[in-house]
Amino acid sequence: MLGTWHALELCRAGYAVQHLEANAAPQGASVRNFGLLWVSGRRSGAELDAAQRARHRWEEVGNDIAGIGFRATGSLTVACTPGERKVMEEFAAHADAAARGITYVEPEELRARNPAVQGDVTGALHCVHDAVVEPRRALGALRDYLSARGSYTYHPGRTVVGIEERALIDVTGTRWEADLVVVATGSAFDSLPGTERVAARLRRVRLQMLETERFARTVTTALADADTLRYYPAYAVVPLDALGAQGPVAAVHHLQLLLVQRADGGLTIGDTHAYDEPFDFALDEQPSTELLARAERLLGVPLPPVARRWEGVYAQCIDGDVCAREELSPGVWMVTGPGGRGMTCAPAIAADTLRLAGA
Ligand SMILES: Cc1cc2nc3c(=O)[nH]c(=O)nc-3n(C[C@H](O)[C@H](O)[C@H](O)COP(=O)(O)OP(=O)(O)OC[C@H]3O[C@@H](n4cnc5c(N)ncnc54)[C@H](O)[C@@H]3O)c2cc1C
Repeated sequence: MLGTWHALELCRAGYAVQHLEANAAPQGASVRNFGLLWVSGRRSGAELDAAQRARHRWEEVGNDIAGIGFRATGSLTVACTPGERKVMEEFAAHADAAARGITYVEPEELRARNPAVQGDVTGALHCVHDAVVEPRRALGALRDYLSARGSYTYHPGRTVVGIEERALIDVTGTRWEADLVVVATGSAFDSLPGTERVAARLRRVRLQMLETERFARTVTTALADADTLRYYPAYAVVPLDALGAQGPVAAVHHLQLLLVQRADGGLTIGDTHAYDEPFDFALDEQPSTELLARAERLLGVPLPPVARRWEGVYAQCIDGDVCAREELSPGVWMVTGPGGRGMTCAPAIAADTLRLAGA
Protein backbone atom coordinates (compact mmCIF):
# COMPACT_ATOMS: atom_id res chain seq x y z
CA MET A 1 0.00 0.00 0.00
CA LEU A 2 2.89 2.37 0.73
CA GLY A 3 4.47 1.68 -2.67
CA THR A 4 1.15 2.01 -4.47
CA TRP A 5 0.21 5.30 -2.76
CA HIS A 6 3.65 6.72 -3.59
CA ALA A 7 3.01 5.70 -7.21
CA LEU A 8 -0.35 7.45 -7.15
CA GLU A 9 0.99 10.68 -5.70
CA LEU A 10 4.00 10.65 -8.05
CA CYS A 11 1.73 10.20 -11.09
CA ARG A 12 -0.42 13.04 -9.78
CA ALA A 13 2.71 15.22 -9.53
CA GLY A 14 3.45 14.52 -13.20
CA TYR A 15 6.01 11.71 -12.99
CA ALA A 16 5.96 8.53 -15.09
CA VAL A 17 6.16 5.64 -12.61
CA GLN A 18 7.69 2.16 -12.95
CA HIS A 19 6.39 0.02 -10.06
CA LEU A 20 8.46 -3.08 -9.21
CA GLU A 21 6.94 -5.89 -7.10
CA ALA A 22 8.78 -9.07 -6.09
CA ASN A 23 5.75 -11.37 -6.08
CA ALA A 24 3.37 -12.25 -8.89
CA ALA A 25 0.73 -10.41 -6.85
CA PRO A 26 1.08 -8.56 -3.52
CA GLN A 27 0.89 -10.88 -0.52
CA GLY A 28 2.13 -8.61 2.27
CA ALA A 29 0.43 -6.81 5.13
CA SER A 30 -1.51 -4.60 2.70
CA VAL A 31 -3.76 -7.45 1.55
CA ARG A 32 -3.94 -9.16 4.96
CA ASN A 33 -5.32 -6.34 7.07
CA PHE A 34 -8.80 -5.25 8.21
CA GLY A 35 -8.96 -2.37 5.77
CA LEU A 36 -9.64 -0.09 8.71
CA LEU A 37 -8.88 3.60 8.28
CA TRP A 38 -8.56 4.07 12.00
CA VAL A 39 -8.34 7.73 13.00
CA SER A 40 -9.77 7.15 16.48
CA GLY A 41 -6.80 5.49 18.17
CA ARG A 42 -4.04 7.73 16.84
CA ARG A 43 -1.54 9.51 19.06
CA SER A 44 -1.93 13.32 19.21
CA GLY A 45 0.52 15.22 17.05
CA ALA A 46 2.16 13.98 13.85
CA GLU A 47 0.39 10.61 13.93
CA LEU A 48 -3.13 12.03 14.25
CA ASP A 49 -2.32 14.73 11.70
CA ALA A 50 -1.15 12.06 9.21
CA ALA A 51 -4.25 9.94 9.82
CA GLN A 52 -6.60 12.89 9.32
CA ARG A 53 -4.91 14.02 6.11
CA ALA A 54 -4.87 10.44 4.86
CA ARG A 55 -8.53 9.86 5.73
CA HIS A 56 -9.45 12.88 3.62
CA ARG A 57 -7.38 11.63 0.67
CA TRP A 58 -8.78 8.08 0.94
CA GLU A 59 -12.29 9.48 0.65
CA GLU A 60 -11.36 11.69 -2.32
CA VAL A 61 -9.78 8.79 -4.20
CA GLY A 62 -12.41 6.33 -2.96
CA ASN A 63 -15.11 8.48 -4.57
CA ASP A 64 -13.28 8.20 -7.95
CA ILE A 65 -12.31 4.51 -7.72
CA ALA A 66 -15.26 2.39 -6.62
CA GLY A 67 -13.12 -0.80 -6.53
CA ILE A 68 -11.36 0.42 -3.36
CA GLY A 69 -14.61 -0.15 -1.49
CA PHE A 70 -14.31 3.01 0.62
CA ARG A 71 -17.14 3.30 3.17
CA ALA A 72 -17.42 6.07 5.79
CA THR A 73 -18.83 3.62 8.33
CA GLY A 74 -17.53 5.18 11.53
CA SER A 75 -16.69 2.88 14.42
CA LEU A 76 -18.01 1.84 17.81
CA THR A 77 -15.58 0.84 20.57
CA VAL A 78 -17.90 -1.04 22.86
CA ALA A 79 -17.94 -1.27 26.68
CA CYS A 80 -19.27 -4.45 28.30
CA THR A 81 -18.56 -3.68 31.98
CA PRO A 82 -19.14 -0.64 34.23
CA GLY A 83 -15.35 -0.16 34.42
CA GLU A 84 -14.96 -0.05 30.64
CA ARG A 85 -17.86 2.39 30.46
CA LYS A 86 -16.21 4.63 33.06
CA VAL A 87 -12.93 4.82 31.10
CA MET A 88 -14.78 5.60 27.88
CA GLU A 89 -16.90 8.33 29.49
CA GLU A 90 -13.74 9.88 30.89
CA PHE A 91 -12.02 9.80 27.50
CA ALA A 92 -15.08 11.28 25.78
CA ALA A 93 -14.89 14.25 28.18
CA HIS A 94 -11.23 14.88 27.21
CA ALA A 95 -10.41 17.42 24.47
CA ASP A 96 -8.61 14.65 22.52
CA ALA A 97 -11.94 12.91 21.89
CA ALA A 98 -13.38 15.88 20.03
CA ALA A 99 -10.18 16.16 17.97
CA ARG A 100 -10.92 12.63 16.67
CA GLY A 101 -14.69 13.06 16.21
CA ILE A 102 -15.33 10.74 19.17
CA THR A 103 -18.40 10.91 21.43
CA TYR A 104 -19.73 8.61 24.14
CA VAL A 105 -23.02 6.87 23.29
CA GLU A 106 -25.44 5.00 25.55
CA PRO A 107 -26.54 1.46 24.59
CA GLU A 108 -29.74 2.72 22.97
CA GLU A 109 -27.91 5.10 20.64
CA LEU A 110 -25.24 2.46 20.02
CA ARG A 111 -27.93 0.08 18.73
CA ALA A 112 -29.51 2.83 16.65
CA ARG A 113 -26.13 3.36 14.97
CA ASN A 114 -25.43 -0.35 14.62
CA PRO A 115 -28.52 -2.58 15.04
CA ALA A 116 -26.34 -5.68 14.58
CA VAL A 117 -24.97 -5.18 18.12
CA GLN A 118 -27.47 -7.25 20.10
CA GLY A 119 -25.19 -8.34 22.97
CA ASP A 120 -25.15 -7.10 26.54
CA VAL A 121 -23.28 -3.78 26.31
CA THR A 122 -22.93 -0.79 28.66
CA GLY A 123 -22.03 1.96 26.18
CA ALA A 124 -19.50 2.85 23.48
CA LEU A 125 -17.19 5.41 21.97
CA HIS A 126 -18.46 6.41 18.56
CA CYS A 127 -15.90 7.77 16.09
CA VAL A 128 -17.40 9.43 13.07
CA HIS A 129 -14.12 9.56 11.08
CA ASP A 130 -13.15 5.87 11.09
CA ALA A 131 -13.76 4.22 7.74
CA VAL A 132 -13.23 0.99 5.82
CA VAL A 133 -11.74 -0.10 2.49
CA GLU A 134 -11.46 -3.58 0.94
CA PRO A 135 -7.84 -4.73 1.37
CA ARG A 136 -8.06 -7.62 -1.11
CA ARG A 137 -9.27 -5.29 -3.87
CA ALA A 138 -7.86 -1.85 -3.12
CA LEU A 139 -4.34 -2.35 -4.53
CA GLY A 140 -5.63 -3.77 -7.81
CA ALA A 141 -8.22 -1.01 -8.11
CA LEU A 142 -5.56 1.69 -7.58
CA ARG A 143 -3.23 0.05 -10.11
CA ASP A 144 -5.98 -0.27 -12.75
CA TYR A 145 -6.83 3.38 -12.27
CA LEU A 146 -3.18 4.42 -12.66
CA SER A 147 -2.55 2.11 -15.66
CA ALA A 148 -5.56 3.57 -17.47
CA ARG A 149 -4.03 7.04 -17.16
CA GLY A 150 -0.94 5.97 -19.11
CA SER A 151 2.01 7.18 -17.01
CA TYR A 152 2.22 4.08 -14.78
CA THR A 153 3.59 0.59 -15.44
CA TYR A 154 3.41 -2.29 -12.98
CA HIS A 155 6.14 -4.95 -13.06
CA PRO A 156 5.25 -7.99 -10.90
CA GLY A 157 7.90 -10.66 -10.37
CA ARG A 158 10.76 -8.13 -10.20
CA THR A 159 12.72 -8.62 -6.98
CA VAL A 160 15.04 -5.72 -6.22
CA VAL A 161 18.48 -6.81 -4.94
CA GLY A 162 20.62 -3.67 -5.16
CA ILE A 163 20.49 0.07 -4.62
CA GLU A 164 22.61 2.64 -6.47
CA GLU A 165 22.44 6.41 -6.89
CA ARG A 166 18.96 7.15 -8.36
CA ALA A 167 18.67 3.52 -9.45
CA LEU A 168 17.66 0.01 -8.43
CA ILE A 169 19.03 -3.31 -9.66
CA ASP A 170 16.62 -6.24 -9.90
CA VAL A 171 17.45 -9.95 -9.62
CA THR A 172 17.81 -10.30 -13.41
CA GLY A 173 20.51 -7.61 -13.37
CA THR A 174 18.27 -5.00 -14.97
CA ARG A 175 19.07 -1.47 -13.84
CA TRP A 176 16.09 0.85 -13.25
CA GLU A 177 17.14 4.51 -13.33
CA ALA A 178 14.85 7.28 -12.12
CA ASP A 179 14.71 10.89 -10.93
CA LEU A 180 13.34 9.57 -7.64
CA VAL A 181 13.27 6.03 -6.22
CA VAL A 182 11.01 4.91 -3.35
CA VAL A 183 11.82 1.59 -1.65
CA ALA A 184 8.75 0.36 0.26
CA THR A 185 9.57 -3.25 1.07
CA GLY A 186 7.28 -3.59 4.11
CA SER A 187 8.42 -6.21 6.61
CA ALA A 188 11.35 -7.21 4.33
CA PHE A 189 13.04 -4.02 5.50
CA ASP A 190 16.42 -5.70 6.13
CA SER A 191 16.65 -7.66 2.88
CA LEU A 192 18.60 -5.11 0.85
CA PRO A 193 22.21 -3.97 1.26
CA GLY A 194 22.56 -0.52 2.82
CA THR A 195 19.37 -0.70 4.91
CA GLU A 196 21.03 -1.52 8.26
CA ARG A 197 20.48 1.95 9.77
CA VAL A 198 16.78 2.00 8.92
CA ALA A 199 16.38 -1.62 10.07
CA ALA A 200 17.74 -0.67 13.51
CA ARG A 201 14.65 1.58 13.95
CA LEU A 202 12.20 -1.20 13.11
CA ARG A 203 10.71 -4.42 14.39
CA ARG A 204 8.33 -6.99 12.93
CA VAL A 205 4.96 -7.77 14.53
CA ARG A 206 2.92 -10.90 13.69
CA LEU A 207 -0.88 -10.91 13.87
CA GLN A 208 -3.54 -13.61 13.57
CA MET A 209 -6.78 -12.96 11.68
CA LEU A 210 -9.84 -14.83 10.45
CA GLU A 211 -12.89 -14.26 8.30
CA THR A 212 -16.34 -15.81 8.53
CA GLU A 213 -18.71 -16.73 5.78
CA ARG A 214 -21.40 -14.17 4.93
CA PHE A 215 -23.15 -12.75 8.03
CA ALA A 216 -26.86 -12.35 7.37
CA ARG A 217 -27.17 -8.93 9.05
CA THR A 218 -25.57 -5.64 8.10
CA VAL A 219 -22.88 -4.51 10.55
CA THR A 220 -23.10 -0.81 9.83
CA THR A 221 -19.97 0.34 11.70
CA ALA A 222 -16.55 -1.14 12.41
CA LEU A 223 -16.50 -2.60 15.94
CA ALA A 224 -13.82 -2.78 18.62
CA ASP A 225 -13.82 -3.94 22.22
CA ALA A 226 -12.36 -2.23 25.27
CA ASP A 227 -9.05 -4.11 25.02
CA THR A 228 -8.22 -1.79 22.09
CA LEU A 229 -7.96 1.04 24.66
CA ARG A 230 -4.86 -0.71 26.03
CA TYR A 231 -3.07 -0.70 22.65
CA TYR A 232 -4.05 2.47 20.80
CA PRO A 233 -1.97 5.41 22.05
CA ALA A 234 -4.84 7.93 21.88
CA TYR A 235 -6.32 6.55 25.10
CA ALA A 236 -3.17 6.95 27.19
CA VAL A 237 -4.40 10.42 28.24
CA VAL A 238 -6.88 8.88 30.73
CA PRO A 239 -6.30 6.34 33.52
CA LEU A 240 -7.07 2.84 32.28
CA ASP A 241 -7.14 1.15 35.72
CA ALA A 242 -10.92 0.73 35.69
CA LEU A 243 -10.56 -1.64 32.73
CA GLY A 244 -9.23 -4.16 35.26
CA ALA A 245 -6.70 -6.87 34.46
CA GLN A 246 -6.71 -8.23 30.94
CA GLY A 247 -7.98 -11.80 30.58
CA PRO A 248 -5.26 -14.49 30.54
CA VAL A 249 -5.58 -15.50 26.85
CA ALA A 250 -5.73 -11.86 25.79
CA ALA A 251 -2.68 -11.00 27.91
CA VAL A 252 -0.56 -13.84 26.46
CA HIS A 253 -1.49 -13.03 22.85
CA HIS A 254 -1.74 -9.23 23.22
CA LEU A 255 -5.27 -9.67 21.91
CA GLN A 256 -7.97 -7.12 21.12
CA LEU A 257 -11.21 -7.50 19.19
CA LEU A 258 -11.63 -5.63 15.93
CA LEU A 259 -14.46 -6.58 13.59
CA VAL A 260 -15.31 -5.33 10.12
CA GLN A 261 -17.95 -6.54 7.71
CA ARG A 262 -16.55 -7.03 4.22
CA ALA A 263 -18.42 -5.78 1.17
CA ASP A 264 -19.44 -9.41 0.44
CA GLY A 265 -20.92 -9.85 3.93
CA GLY A 266 -18.15 -11.87 5.66
CA LEU A 267 -16.78 -10.66 8.99
CA THR A 268 -13.06 -9.99 9.33
CA ILE A 269 -12.13 -10.60 12.95
CA GLY A 270 -8.81 -10.12 14.77
CA ASP A 271 -6.28 -9.66 16.17
CA THR A 272 -3.27 -10.81 18.19
CA HIS A 273 0.27 -9.42 18.43
CA ALA A 274 3.54 -11.37 18.68
CA TYR A 275 6.78 -9.42 18.96
CA ASP A 276 9.49 -12.05 19.43
CA GLU A 277 11.13 -13.60 16.39
CA PRO A 278 11.33 -16.28 15.16
CA PHE A 279 7.54 -16.29 14.86
CA ASP A 280 5.58 -19.50 15.12
CA PHE A 281 4.76 -20.86 11.67
CA ALA A 282 1.48 -22.30 12.99
CA LEU A 283 -1.78 -20.46 13.66
CA ASP A 284 -2.76 -20.82 17.32
CA GLU A 285 -6.39 -21.84 17.88
CA GLN A 286 -6.73 -20.51 21.44
CA PRO A 287 -6.78 -16.77 20.59
CA SER A 288 -9.02 -17.46 17.58
CA THR A 289 -11.54 -19.16 19.86
CA GLU A 290 -11.37 -16.18 22.23
CA LEU A 291 -11.89 -13.68 19.40
CA LEU A 292 -14.87 -15.60 18.00
CA ALA A 293 -16.45 -15.81 21.47
CA ARG A 294 -16.01 -12.05 21.97
CA ALA A 295 -17.49 -11.27 18.56
CA GLU A 296 -20.45 -13.53 19.28
CA ARG A 297 -21.02 -11.88 22.69
CA LEU A 298 -21.04 -8.43 21.09
CA LEU A 299 -23.36 -9.34 18.22
CA GLY A 300 -25.54 -11.47 20.50
CA VAL A 301 -26.13 -14.17 17.85
CA PRO A 302 -24.14 -17.19 16.61
CA LEU A 303 -21.54 -16.38 13.96
CA PRO A 304 -21.37 -18.06 10.56
CA PRO A 305 -18.61 -20.68 10.13
CA VAL A 306 -15.03 -19.46 9.72
CA ALA A 307 -14.16 -19.35 6.03
CA ARG A 308 -10.43 -18.62 6.27
CA ARG A 309 -7.65 -17.86 8.75
CA TRP A 310 -4.30 -16.23 8.13
CA GLU A 311 -1.39 -14.45 9.73
CA GLY A 312 0.18 -11.17 8.74
CA VAL A 313 3.41 -9.40 9.62
CA TYR A 314 3.95 -5.67 9.60
CA ALA A 315 7.03 -3.52 10.13
CA GLN A 316 6.80 -1.05 12.99
CA CYS A 317 8.98 1.95 13.72
CA ILE A 318 9.96 1.68 17.40
CA ASP A 319 11.10 5.26 18.00
CA GLY A 320 7.66 6.90 17.83
CA ASP A 321 7.84 8.27 14.27
CA VAL A 322 4.84 7.70 12.00
CA CYS A 323 7.17 5.64 9.77
CA ALA A 324 10.88 5.20 9.07
CA ARG A 325 11.87 7.27 6.05
CA GLU A 326 15.50 7.75 5.03
CA GLU A 327 17.42 8.68 1.89
CA LEU A 328 19.63 5.59 1.45
CA SER A 329 21.56 6.99 -1.47
CA PRO A 330 21.05 10.20 -3.50
CA GLY A 331 17.50 10.08 -4.88
CA VAL A 332 16.66 6.73 -3.22
CA TRP A 333 14.20 6.92 -0.29
CA MET A 334 13.29 3.96 1.86
CA VAL A 335 9.84 4.23 3.48
CA THR A 336 8.46 1.55 5.77
CA GLY A 337 7.43 0.80 9.36
CA PRO A 338 4.03 2.48 9.77
CA GLY A 339 3.05 -0.44 12.02
CA GLY A 340 -0.65 -1.12 12.53
CA ARG A 341 -1.60 2.20 10.95
CA GLY A 342 -0.08 1.71 7.48
CA MET A 343 -3.36 1.26 5.68
CA THR A 344 -4.76 4.32 7.43
CA CYS A 345 -1.79 6.65 6.92
CA ALA A 346 -0.35 5.55 3.54
CA PRO A 347 -1.69 8.55 1.54
CA ALA A 348 -0.19 11.07 4.00
CA ILE A 349 3.10 9.17 4.26
CA ALA A 350 3.40 9.26 0.46
CA ALA A 351 2.59 12.97 0.31
CA ASP A 352 5.25 13.67 2.98
CA THR A 353 7.90 11.69 1.06
CA LEU A 354 7.27 13.75 -2.07
CA ARG A 355 7.55 16.96 -0.06
CA LEU A 356 10.80 15.90 1.64
CA ALA A 357 12.30 14.67 -1.65
CA GLY A 358 11.33 17.94 -3.35
CA ALA A 359 9.19 16.09 -5.92
C1 LIG B 1 -3.07 -8.60 10.06
C2 LIG B 1 -2.85 -7.12 9.88
C3 LIG B 1 -3.91 -6.24 10.10
C4 LIG B 1 -3.71 -4.87 9.93
N1 LIG B 1 -4.78 -4.03 10.00
C5 LIG B 1 -4.63 -2.72 9.66
C6 LIG B 1 -5.76 -1.87 9.55
O1 LIG B 1 -6.90 -2.30 9.64
N2 LIG B 1 -5.54 -0.54 9.34
C7 LIG B 1 -4.28 -0.03 9.17
O2 LIG B 1 -4.14 1.18 9.03
N3 LIG B 1 -3.19 -0.85 9.16
C8 LIG B 1 -3.34 -2.17 9.38
N4 LIG B 1 -2.27 -3.00 9.37
C9 LIG B 1 -0.96 -2.45 9.00
C10 LIG B 1 -0.85 -2.28 7.49
O3 LIG B 1 -1.42 -3.38 6.83
C11 LIG B 1 0.62 -2.13 7.11
O4 LIG B 1 1.21 -1.09 7.86
C12 LIG B 1 0.75 -1.76 5.64
O5 LIG B 1 -0.01 -2.64 4.83
C13 LIG B 1 2.21 -1.79 5.22
O6 LIG B 1 2.27 -1.54 3.84
P1 LIG B 1 3.62 -1.70 3.07
O7 LIG B 1 3.34 -1.34 1.67
O8 LIG B 1 4.71 -0.99 3.80
O9 LIG B 1 4.01 -3.27 3.22
P2 LIG B 1 3.55 -4.57 2.44
O10 LIG B 1 2.09 -4.63 2.26
O11 LIG B 1 4.20 -5.72 3.11
O12 LIG B 1 4.18 -4.39 0.99
C14 LIG B 1 5.55 -4.51 0.73
C15 LIG B 1 5.68 -5.00 -0.69
O13 LIG B 1 7.04 -4.93 -1.08
C16 LIG B 1 7.34 -6.09 -1.82
N5 LIG B 1 8.78 -6.32 -1.71
C17 LIG B 1 9.49 -6.63 -0.59
N6 LIG B 1 10.80 -6.76 -0.88
C18 LIG B 1 10.92 -6.52 -2.21
C19 LIG B 1 12.02 -6.49 -3.10
N7 LIG B 1 13.27 -6.73 -2.68
N8 LIG B 1 11.78 -6.21 -4.40
C20 LIG B 1 10.53 -5.95 -4.85
N9 LIG B 1 9.44 -5.96 -4.04
C21 LIG B 1 9.64 -6.23 -2.74
C22 LIG B 1 6.52 -7.20 -1.17
O14 LIG B 1 6.37 -8.30 -2.03
C23 LIG B 1 5.22 -6.46 -0.84
O15 LIG B 1 4.28 -6.55 -1.89
C24 LIG B 1 -2.43 -4.37 9.57
C25 LIG B 1 -1.38 -5.26 9.37
C26 LIG B 1 -1.58 -6.63 9.52
C27 LIG B 1 -0.43 -7.56 9.27
